[in-house]
Amino acid sequence: GQNNAPDYLKGLNPEQRLAVETTEGPVLVLAGAGTGKTRVLTTRIAHILATGKAFPSQILAVTFTNKAAREMKQRIGILIGEGNVEGMPWLGTFHSIGVKLLRRHAELAGLRSDFTILDTDDVVRLIKQLIQAEGLDDKRWPAKQFAQMIDGWKNKGQGPADIAEGDARSFANGKGRELYKAYQDRLQTLNACDFGDLLCHPIRIFRANPDVLKDYHRRFKYILVDEYQDTNTAQYMWLRLLAQRADGRATVNICCVGDDDQSIYGWRGAEVDNILRFDKDFPGATIIRLERNYRSTAHILGAASHLIAHNEGRFGKTLFTDRNDPEDGKVNVHAAWDSEEEARAVGETIEAYQRQKHDLNDMAILVRASFQMRAFEDRFITLGLNYRVIGGPRFYERMEIRDALAFFRVVANSGDDLAFERIVNVPKRGLGEATIRQIHDTARALRIPMLEAAGNLAESDELKPKPRAALREVAANFERWQKALETKPHTELAETILEESGYTDMWKNDRSAEAPGRLENLKELIRSMEEYESLRSFLEHVALVMDAEQNAGQDAVSIMTLHSAKGLEFETVFLPGWEEGLFPHQRALDEGGRSGLEEERRLAYVGLTRAKKNLHIWFVSNRLIHGLWQSTIPSRFLEELPESHVEIAESGNSHGGYGNPYGGGSFASGRGGGRQNPYGASRFDSVGANAEKSGAFSNTYSTPGWQRAQANRTEATDRNWGTR
Ligand code: ATP
Ligand code: MG
Repeated sequence: GQNNAPDYLKGLNPEQRLAVETTEGPVLVLAGAGTGKTRVLTTRIAHILATGKAFPSQILAVTFTNKAAREMKQRIGILIGEGNVEGMPWLGTFHSIGVKLLRRHAELAGLRSDFTILDTDDVVRLIKQLIQAEGLDDKRWPAKQFAQMIDGWKNKGQGPADIAEGDARSFANGKGRELYKAYQDRLQTLNACDFGDLLCHPIRIFRANPDVLKDYHRRFKYILVDEYQDTNTAQYMWLRLLAQRADGRATVNICCVGDDDQSIYGWRGAEVDNILRFDKDFPGATIIRLERNYRSTAHILGAASHLIAHNEGRFGKTLFTDRNDPEDGKVNVHAAWDSEEEARAVGETIEAYQRQKHDLNDMAILVRASFQMRAFEDRFITLGLNYRVIGGPRFYERMEIRDALAFFRVVANSGDDLAFERIVNVPKRGLGEATIRQIHDTARALRIPMLEAAGNLAESDELKPKPRAALREVAANFERWQKALETKPHTELAETILEESGYTDMWKNDRSAEAPGRLENLKELIRSMEEYESLRSFLEHVALVMDAEQNAGQDAVSIMTLHSAKGLEFETVFLPGWEEGLFPHQRALDEGGRSGLEEERRLAYVGLTRAKKNLHIWFVSNRLIHGLWQSTIPSRFLEELPESHVEIAESGNSHGGYGNPYGGGSFASGRGGGRQNPYGASRFDSVGANAEKSGAFSNTYSTPGWQRAQANRTEATDRNWGTR
């Protein structure tokens, strides 16, 4: 009974408790954000351990990030005592568990257990060699592109023999399959593997060695997976192999939790269908829905539920909260003139919260694209406000930004040898290590900067013609740019440098998934220079910014992308940049069709549901897009927020020379931009009015969109869909 239940079970609601205590057989918890899915998983592990159903080493638990794995281990320790969690070797991400499996059975994949794991750069270099060895033109058939194709195949668990005829033919005149095979052979010779292999090798090993697989069937008594909606096909195959006994007799104790509305990695091969067909894969599955949200206020939950109801391809969900504090504020929507004012206003709001004794640790800024971080980082440094960037380098530490800054530094100071060395062969100009050592030696011998030494060498006959020509060009470039330093506006010069050096083109020709983001960052860099008088004062500012500590462990605001915010929660959340083209992102809009836009909307839902108490959304009326200042249109997602839960903030715009462009308190009034805003004030108002006449957030939430989704559900899923 409830009374003599162990402490860790108290405080769970009946559905959560069912999910924890149904330890035998397949269980799926499919529920909305903040309903306690992760908490259920954590408590379930604690329960299994505390009741002696399994030893720590007999539990396989998969989280989405390493950080989540560490936190889960910690939480279990709190629930049942740290000593009892020791040795949970199989709690981690798919990749970290994959490495462990592969090290144990490397020989079955033709590797030694000390194999190396290649990073993306290594992979691309290797593929380039293979392309050249085939006598193919690596300009026409870029290695980066093929690396992406291989990654895509591996996400689907496909080896060279499995890929479709058309796919294989689409690269290098039909040589795709041979190249893929040559790549795998080469990896084997090198005793190396790539990230995809960390899953694909174990899958192949399990298939080819039933004894090995059986061993793991005996070992793993319980399998648990968080964020199941974002598993890709390879991860799914890997799980199925581990979870499905061939003899069909033993029960499969697998518990997956997830939320189809938070599937945001489709662009990286995640298949939301994996979660939707769980009951077919594991017949007799107990499907549990959690409907009570413990995280957010009624206003935040109401706004998020209403927004996500605009997606068509979804299972409807009921979500309610008991929180009904009249003190709770509505979701705040703010307008700003541009990204600088947006950052200023967010900074002010954060300081206001601080004055009310809110911890910075409880606040987060979640951006759609990483280039947006720059304005906030700069502003917070000016304010002396501690911040940390989660899940990626800080803006000025990104590779492309460091490269660009290196060019600028040499222009501003020819003696900056460190910077010179970084970019002398960027983009690649065929300057090898030997040539660079020669520049070094000359510079040291003559006590001159490397740039000057390079110039000298370019005029001597100590070098072969090719590197000599390359150095001559480098020297001439810098001479020209240094002259222009006195005459050209510095932002213009910066752009010229990146163009004439071939750096911008290098990323334009790059087909990797990161390239567009890097180009965006470069544009943002140039844009940010406008604030400074000269190139030198800008570089000084950057040097100071780079010196700022990362503030680990201190009280600090978190800045991260929406993608890396999955599963997290904060008391106060800021969502800047809600404009068409940025969010939803232009790339999703260009794709056309529903799926790209719907994934963006799910990302918005993830963002909104990170907030516990306070939520502030911003949009600006001017933003630099594709290098041009454009007046922007507020995101359609703003339109999709119900009026009853939203407050359009009067932005107390006390600074800068410009008045508040949105005096009327609506998105549309007073817009001065040349583009017409299709979302008139009346339209915005009507969305709220139609959606919810009652005004207050009712306990169960349903909309026509939700009902439509219900009607669209397939018969098979309907049958098994009853709660409990
Ligand atoms: P997401 O979909 O965002 O990953 P989730 O469903 O995993 O969310 P959790 O992070 O597990 O939700 O829980 C959200 C918050 O609600 C956490 O702070 C958690 O501690 C709290 N919570 C969950 N269940 C309960 C409960 N029964 N009583 C009190 N608080 C709870
Ligand atoms: Mg979670």
